[in-house]
Amino acid sequence: MLDVRVGDIVQLRKRHPCGADEWRIVRVGADIGLRCVGCDRRVTLPRRRFERRVKAVRTPHEAPGPVDGSAEAAHGSEGGS
Ligand SMILES: [Zn+2]
Repeated sequence: MLDVRVGDIVQLRKRHPCGADEWRIVRVGADIGLRCVGCDRRVTLPRRRFERRVKAVRTPHEAPGPVDGSAEAAHGSEGGS
């Protein structure tokens, strides 16, 4: 099952007539609510049909790249007297 959340951006296989192919998730449940990022049109699709149309999912809340070590590096300067 496709894991999407409200606020995610998905790319669908079929481009919208307005030219955009990305949609923002606005509702998740038995039906998936989508809003076109191009023309702001809102549609609702049954989850099964939605999953078949999705080409890619972009999750803005999962930013790649863990933060590590930068805070510790400032402490590690040795003063050689
Ligand atoms: Zn559109």
